[in-house]
Amino acid sequence: MSHDSSLISAQVRHVEALLEQRGLLDAGEIDTRIDEFLAGGTPANGARIVARAWVDPGFASRLLADANGAIREIGLSMAGGLQEQRLKVVANTDGEHNVVVCTLCSCYPIALLGPSPGWYKSEAYRSRVVRDPRGVLREFGVELPAGTQVSVWDASAESRYLVLPRRPEGTEGLAEDELAALVTRKGLIGTAAV
Ligand code: FE
Repeated sequence: MSHDSSLISAQVRHVEALLEQRGLLDAGEIDTRIDEFLAGGTPANGARIVARAWVDPGFASRLLADANGAIREIGLSMAGGLQEQRLKVVANTDGEHNVVVCTLCSCYPIALLGPSPGWYKSEAYRSRVVRDPRGVLREFGVELPAGTQVSVWDASAESRYLVLPRRPEGTEGLAEDELAALVTRKGLIGTAAV
């Protein structure tokens, strides 16, 4: 969601109309593409990324260095819609917990998580998670040790974030798809441990 969405919508509509007039674009083609993009977006995509990173250290390091490139290896992309959004994956560790917000509106990696939950878009979450991340996380049931640093990542129209949770203990014997089933949308935003 853009911060100047009405102006940008009008500009986009104008360009669409010009392309349609010149026969370069069928009427409705962009709507169809956007519908396809939204239909493909589900938290199962984010969960697949996390499970692959847990079982494949090489993938994990490529993911942290260049998330847009790494997710293409497993058939995912941030290029849906009209332009590719930059994705940064931030990994939880013993000493650091990450949480994602868009303080201005509701920017969110829809391709990897599906449509965002209502609380993510709420004024309360957007304003409070920046000022008091520990307090907000406590309300979500995430108690962090005093020594854990909390990093808050503010998404924008160009940059989206995904949290890589820590692999739960006792999951050594699980297959990749079983690991993916443990990962929740909140875990990918940082408001749950996994
Ligand atoms: Fe936003």
